[in-house]
Amino acid sequence: MRSFSYERATSPGDAAAAAVGIANAKFIAGGTNLLDLMKLEIETPAHLIDVNDLALDRIDETADGGLRIGALVRNTDLAADRRVRRGYGVLSRALLAGASGQLRNKATTAGNLLQRTRCPYFYDTNLPCNKRTPGSGCAAIGGFSRQHAVVGASDACIATHPSDMAVAMRALDAVVETVRPDGTTRNIPIAELHRLPDDSPEIETALQPGELITSVTLPKPIGGTQAYRKVRDRASYAFALVSVAAIVQPDGSGRVALGGVAHKPWRIEAAEAELPDGAKAVTARLFADAKPTRDNAYKLPLAERTLTAVLREARA
Ligand SMILES: Cc1cc2nc3c(=O)[nH]c(=O)nc-3n(C[C@H](O)[C@H](O)[C@H](O)COP(=O)(O)OP(=O)(O)OC[C@H]3O[C@@H](n4cnc5c(N)ncnc54)[C@H](O)[C@@H]3O)c2cc1C
Ligand code: SF4
Repeated sequence: MRSFSYERATSPGDAAAAAVGIANAKFIAGGTNLLDLMKLEIETPAHLIDVNDLALDRIDETADGGLRIGALVRNTDLAADRRVRRGYGVLSRALLAGASGQLRNKATTAGNLLQRTRCPYFYDTNLPCNKRTPGSGCAAIGGFSRQHAVVGASDACIATHPSDMAVAMRALDAVVETVRPDGTTRNIPIAELHRLPDDSPEIETALQPGELITSVTLPKPIGGTQAYRKVRDRASYAFALVSVAAIVQPDGSGRVALGGVAHKPWRIEAAEAELPDGAKAVTARLFADAKPTRDNAYKLPLAERTLTAVLREARA
């Protein structure tokens, strides 16, 4: 690990301002992703801004009946919150499907959204990776790509986004609230937070330099039967090969978002019109532009079968 300087921020505005005032600075929250990347010299910040003292660890009800989740709320606390379990079961289940108890005790809401891909070539600094070193190439294309994206990928990068929580938040139409270095704030619908790789996979989100996530807002609960099913190589402590977040209403309508298949949580609202016709029709729309590799074509039928199981369970 390379040496770096460190400060503890005392207000969100100061943290955001410091992040652009000092070259190559990064925020650190739980550190469960960033520290691993620093040890491997994949991330080499010169300065860390610790945001843990910011008073962003509360879950509050909003005026319109939703919830505002502070950026520093730990994954464990969010999953266990009575209001989340009652009104947003898909979120609680997705959180509990992620990582391990110890990691969830440290991992924060913002850090989880901004965790980086688990592409094995991204972690191997001996191999080319456009995300780690722009312009160097992509070792996954033509390499072993069993875990990689089947849709929304590009000629520059076929990585997936690893978060379970983000998939549930996408189904729930969450909104990310931020403060920028000039002190202005903005709301970013979660659909617009994560980017597809295109020809610049190193740019992963719509956040501007120094922009700090302060909270995530969930709209009023929409009811329905909510489920999150994750298919992975081991029963725990493994990332999704495919995951399904679904909210199914008594009249058969609903919402579906997929994890493990793209560079961002994958939801196409128009596909949800097909729900009464079943999982095959929905996944046909979700994967209309899919370009699987030789190794990961199994994800297409796997997603369909997983959604079939989720819908059967929800309707029962
Ligand atoms: C062994 C292992 C298994 C795991 N399995 C899973 C899994 O199955 N599913 C899953 O979803 N996740 C899994 N994870 C990932 C884990 O959930 C993330 O590491 C964690 O959520 C990151 O949160 P953090 O607070 O520790 O982030 P940090 O490591 O502190 O930060 C991550 C990134 O977010 C940025 N950041 C942090 N806070 C803010 C903020 N407020 N505003 C702007 N930027 C910010 C940091 O600068 C950094 O770039 C696993 C991790 C490990 C190590
Ligand atoms: S898929 Fe993306 S993250 Fe993986 S090696 Fe290629 S460019 Fe890097």
